[in-house]
Amino acid sequence: MKIGVIAIQGNVTEHVHALERTFAEQGVDGEIIRIRQSGLVPDCDAIVLPGGESTTLARLIWQEGIAAEIRSAVRSGVPVLGTCAGLVLLAKDGDDQITRTKQHLLGLMDIEVKRNAFGRQCDSFETSIDIPVIGGLFPAVFIRAPAIVRCGEGVSVLARFGEYMVAAQQDNMLALAFHPEMVADTRLHHYFMNMI
Ligand code: GLN
Repeated sequence: MKIGVIAIQGNVTEHVHALERTFAEQGVDGEIIRIRQSGLVPDCDAIVLPGGESTTLARLIWQEGIAAEIRSAVRSGVPVLGTCAGLVLLAKDGDDQITRTKQHLLGLMDIEVKRNAFGRQCDSFETSIDIPVIGGLFPAVFIRAPAIVRCGEGVSVLARFGEYMVAAQQDNMLALAFHPEMVADTRLHHYFMNMI
């Protein structure tokens, strides 16, 4: 099994380590590759879009020709995990900030996102949220996190926090507003790997 982590910018190493731990826990001999150029996504069995800065990430994945490859892989059923900025990129619709700055979105998931919904970097926080599909409470780290403000019919909401939806799944796409790669708990990475 080969998992590609889009490694242009952001929380790449943390995801690689969390995936390595998950492989070890499952006893799977998997390979993780860091993707910085086009030509690699088509060989992957799953793709991770890490958090970072969605404007920078969007610009670079388009510039490198990676965006089109992600789109066609995901449309053909390859599982994708988008965390934080990765969730923003997966979305079909964005808030005023996204529209105003003409930020590119992959437009794969039928969700509308609001960037920086919980405030600025200094408003980052960790809290316990209930995620029934993985068996209950999970320590969620929110760093200048986006939130989901609308979900289409084919989307299941996996977790809510306050007025917002913060975890959702549509078929082979899993979107999390927080950072599961920054905690020791690998249940969400296991959940993702079980989608492959
Ligand atoms: N606020 C960032 C953005 O919208 C996301 C932050 C993160 O990925 N930690 O790009």
